[in-house]
Amino acid sequence: MQTWPLPQIPQLPGRGDTVHVRDTSSGRLVPAATGPRATLYVCGITPYDSTHMGHAATYVAFDLLGRAWRDAGLDVRYASNVTDVDDPLLERATATGVDWRDLAQDQTTLFADDMTSLRVVPPDVYLGAVETVPDVVGAVEKMLAAGAAYRVPLEPGAGGADPTTGDVYADLSVDSAFGQVAGLELDHMLVLFGERGGDPDRAGKRDPLDPLLWRRERPGEPAWDGGSLGTGRPGWHVECAVIARDGLGLPFDVQGGGVDLQFPHHEMSTSHARVLSDGAGGAGVHVHAGMVGLDGEKMSKSRGNLVLVSALRAAGVDPMAIRLTLLGHHYATDWEWTEPDLAAGVQRLDRWRRAVATDAGPEATGTLAAVRAALADDLDAPRALVAVDDWADAALGGSPASGRHGTVDGAPALVRSAVDALLGVRL
Ligand code: ZN
Repeated sequence: MQTWPLPQIPQLPGRGDTVHVRDTSSGRLVPAATGPRATLYVCGITPYDSTHMGHAATYVAFDLLGRAWRDAGLDVRYASNVTDVDDPLLERATATGVDWRDLAQDQTTLFADDMTSLRVVPPDVYLGAVETVPDVVGAVEKMLAAGAAYRVPLEPGAGGADPTTGDVYADLSVDSAFGQVAGLELDHMLVLFGERGGDPDRAGKRDPLDPLLWRRERPGEPAWDGGSLGTGRPGWHVECAVIARDGLGLPFDVQGGGVDLQFPHHEMSTSHARVLSDGAGGAGVHVHAGMVGLDGEKMSKSRGNLVLVSALRAAGVDPMAIRLTLLGHHYATDWEWTEPDLAAGVQRLDRWRRAVATDAGPEATGTLAAVRAALADDLDAPRALVAVDDWADAALGGSPASGRHGTVDGAPALVRSAVDALLGVRL
């Protein structure tokens, strides 16, 4: 899978602090990574409705983590995926009369363009579900051989030339640590599993929560050679487990995504990673971004209330103003996208640009330290923005403390570099 270009990241004087994030499994503020190497997996898009503000907020949030890690001197490795074949994509393609491959390709390209415009650092490992099929097949075969998976017989008409080899499901009962990612009660798990792509009522499963690993060929659906599994396509959760295993190694530091992925997706993919690594496990820390709403509803294609990055760009909105608008909200909170909020982002960008447009300005080393400290404290971007606002106020003479004297050569350049390197906003 082709990534997008790497934005230039200016070098800053000194070093950033150890980054702490809120682990959503324990609720505790913990170091995001403990070694000199920091590994991050952020679940990628299913390419059929990219890139709405919920997506953009999530990828910008984890982009802050990568930037803060690099600033702290860590060797960052970031992996992500594109679920370029899955039920929602196929359903959308059928509903709109588009070939699913064209839909996936167009939306993946659009997503890359949006990420480029928002100056999101691309993943080091970026794989599609389709190109990962052989690796997933090997992993599922391994799980079957270990007794961690089982076959469920097919309905008449399924299975192509080999209808006797069933779908494959994970047997969650072999994983005693299952449930620790989200920490939910069984009833709640069952409801969410049914709402979010699971099939609790599928006949023949050992447990309603057992998730699909390999879906055999069905009439009208794309299918790939699955070796001993028979023709079919991979389940979603195992896709991420395999890409994280092969791209980062297990265990790894942080798994990220929107909070709606916590269960079942991250619970299931972590369970698969645990089984595939003989207990080593998946992510040490789970971090989840809040939902972005519009007019009192969660932004989602099913509600048809999407604000798209590409539409705003086409309307002439500066992507850096979009990024600033996103950064104005703490990543872990749920918030609403509004026009006045975007207008404030546009205004803030203009103000910052005017403030850095001179050679000398107010001392800025304290501003750099404040931005670093804010990001190290659970990626507190709103607090970082206030620190830059304060400096910009002083630079533009809006604050009573400012004055002609006390200006420092190169201070505006330092703020420009700090905002670029740490917040990803080019002034
Ligand atoms: Zn994932």
